[in-house]
Formats: sequence, C-alpha cells, structure tokens
Amino acid sequence: MLCYYKGSINKEALLQSMSSIIMRLAVPAICFAAALILRNQLLSMAPGNSTEDLIFLLLQLPYILLVLAAVLALLSDHAVEAGATIGILCVYWLIQSQLQVPLQTQPAAQIFYLINLLLPCLLVGLAFMPEQNCRQPLGIAAIALVPVMVILLARLLAFDPNLFLASAQQALDNSLFSSHLSAISTALYLVAFGVCIGLCIYRQQPLESSLLGCTLMSYITFGWIHLSNISAFMFTGIGVLLSINLTGSLLSIGYRDELTQIGNRRALKQSAKTLRGSYSVAMVDADYFKKINDQYGHDLGDQALRVIAGLLRKTADGGKAFRYGGEEFCLLFKGKSKQEVIDTLENIRQAIANYDMVIRDKKHRPKASKQGEKRRGASRRNGELRLTVSIGVASSDSSGQFEQVLKKADKALYRAKASGRNQVQAA
Ligand code: GH3
Ligand code: MG
Ligand code: MG
Repeated sequence: MLCYYKGSINKEALLQSMSSIIMRLAVPAICFAAALILRNQLLSMAPGNSTEDLIFLLLQLPYILLVLAAVLALLSDHAVEAGATIGILCVYWLIQSQLQVPLQTQPAAQIFYLINLLLPCLLVGLAFMPEQNCRQPLGIAAIALVPVMVILLARLLAFDPNLFLASAQQALDNSLFSSHLSAISTALYLVAFGVCIGLCIYRQQPLESSLLGCTLMSYITFGWIHLSNISAFMFTGIGVLLSINLTGSLLSIGYRDELTQIGNRRALKQSAKTLRGSYSVAMVDADYFKKINDQYGHDLGDQALRVIAGLLRKTADGGKAFRYGGEEFCLLFKGKSKQEVIDTLENIRQAIANYDMVIRDKKHRPKASKQGEKRRGASRRNGELRLTVSIGVASSDSSGQFEQVLKKADKALYRAKASGRNQVQAA
C-alpha cells in the first residue's frame, strides 16, 4: 500500500510497506527452499532404505523446530528466548558436526568439556536476565552470546589445538554415575535445574519452563551421548517445548491485557463467539477514576486497575473477567440469567468498595506525613479516594445477539452512574 502525505510519498510508510511485502514474499520462499534442500539431501542418500531416510529426517527435525522457535522469539521480540533458542541451535550443530566420534578423540573431548561447563552457566544466566527486546543492548548480547562464544573458542582451539586437553581428559576420566559428565558439570546442571524449578514456581513464566526443559534434556543428551540418536530425540523435545511456549506467549500478547493480566477486548470477542443459549453480561466501570489519577498519579491509578481486575477474577463466581478498555471491565456469565448473577455482582461491588487500598507509589504520595495523613484520611472519610465501581447487567433473554446484550448492559451501567454510582443496575 502506498501512503501519500500532503501530496508527497511518506518515505517511512513506503519503506515499512516495502519491508512488509518483502517479508510476506521471503517467508514462503525460504520454506520452499528448505523443503527442496531436504528433499535433495534425502534423494542423494542410498535409495530404498527407509530406516536411513527416517533417521535422516529425525536428525533434521531439531534444526527445523529450533529455527521455527528462534523466528517466533525474534518476531515476538523476546530477546532472552531468542538467545536461548539460538544457543541451543548452536549446541545441536556442534553435537552433529563435532561429537559424532568417540569422546576421547580430539577436539571432540575438548568441545564436549567446554559445552558442559558453559551451557548450564548460560541457562542460569538467561533465567536471571530481565525481559529484553531485540533492540536493547542486553537483548542483543543474549542473542549474539553463543554464536560469538563458539567463534571465539574455535579461534582459540585453532591457535592451540590442545588448550583444554588436560582438563577435558581429566573430566572424562572422573565422570559421575554412569554418565559421561564430570562432578563439576553435574553440579552445574543441578544448580541450573534448581534455579529453573525455583523460578518456574516463583515467576510462573514460560521462559523458566523452557529453560528447565533445556537443562533436563541437555543433561540427558550429554550424560548418555553414546546412546543412538539421543541428541536428535532430546533436541526435538527442546524444539517442541520452545515452540509451544513461544506460541503461548504470542497468543497471550494478543489476548491478554498487559496491565491487569486478564483477557482483553479481543479475548472477550473470541469468548462471545462460543456463547449459546442463556448468558449474562455485566459492564463494570470504576467511579471517578479520573480523580484518582489526578490526585494520586497515574501509577496509583494503574495499581487500582490491577486491584479491581484481581477482585473481579476472585469474586466472579463462575463469571469470566475481561478488561474492556480504560477503567471499564466486562464480566461474562455463561448459562446464567441476570437474576442468577445479581447477588454475585453485589458481592463484587462490596468487595471493591471495602478494599483497603495501600498506596505503594512513593512518588505520588503526599510528601509531608501530616499532609499525607490528612489527605488519605480525608479521602477515606469524604470518599475522595473511594475505589468503587458501578455495574450494569443484562442477559440474553430476549435478544441472543452479544452486541445487543452488551449495549443493554451498558445502558444499565449508565443508569447506575446517573443514580449515584457504586451500585448494580439490571437492564
Ligand atoms: P465515571 O464515574 O463517570 O466513570 O468517571 P471517570 O472519571 O471514571 O470516567 P472518565 O471517563 O471521565 O475517566 C476515565 C479515566 O480513566 C480517564 C483515564 O485517564 C483513566 N484511565 C483509563 N485507562 C487507564 C489506565 O490504564 N491507567 C490509568 N491510571 N488510568 C486510566
Ligand atoms: Mg469511570
Ligand atoms: Mg468509563
């Protein structure tokens, strides 16, 4: 699409649409090329041996899945995930290109030794790295780290082919349990494992779950690398895991409200498509919210929205909460009439009105404690910082069309506002 601005072509928009067109054309071309290359490689192998064909495909599978995961991570601007995926891709390439020989061979022993020292450290480092986009310096460092390290270590080994020979052999001679890994490597993997499990439970983000899978499957691969095609199976597992978690993150970007972590308007529309029979819709709007922002600042306003969303989720009793936009929320009650949900809505209204909001935002807190006390006290007494909501509810009794029911709920909400706010009105 060409964009014109006051008669002249807007160069930035033109460049943007050009790059978008190139992307649209490049992606199918790259997939087509990959399919052709795979086919040609398969045909160049000994004909008629279907087991060999299968193994060949199995060995390519981690590349395909990991490249897919890397593209997903880069497209969704998840630099840490992109760094982990590219790192794992490099490790798989090293296994396939350098470690398909007896482990005592050189430089295989040294590469094996270095990977099993650096990989668990990398996984721990990435687990602790704050979220980064692909343009931030730390994000770029995460993406480039492993390829740069591989190049540097290759240079070092080219300069002195036996640089890590003594340590590598010592590590192999002192491997633990029935594995090929030394005590130090095993301990590092255990630390990485512990960190990932801890962060998985504490933060509940997909990244830690991906890193946990990477740690476990890398440990099994290197510990028992002599087993036939173990790396292909384990790294296919890693590729699937990373792709699933990244797809989940992408979906959550599209359907989850970032501030309140509940579904957004698009998620509501999606849920509305599945509605059948009787259901109720409640529109919930924070009262005098502009005042809260004006008096206590936008950050406190954000905190208040999170509180409302949390209480809606907790108290909705079978209803599903969505952020409709701004300080407006929507509750969807499947299979329930407005008479059946009115008590729940009244409970929600009371829970919000009785919530004792702690002002954590020091920046906008009144500086002098006396003034602060006066302001907060006054606000509680006179209702200036009353975190209350007005609610309008309608059900699908007469009209099954979701948009119509929503409009009726909106009208009831206006009545609740006009009648003094902090109340529930049914259509
Ligand atoms: P009423 O009781 O009539 O609903 O009054 P109100 O002040 O809540 O309504 P109004 O529509 O005048 O103002 C809504 C305010 O909500 C204005 C806007 O700044 C604020 N708001 C919308 N989205 C956000 C947000 O994400 N964070 C914060 N802090 N404020 C928001
Ligand atoms: Mg409002
Ligand atoms: Mg509003």
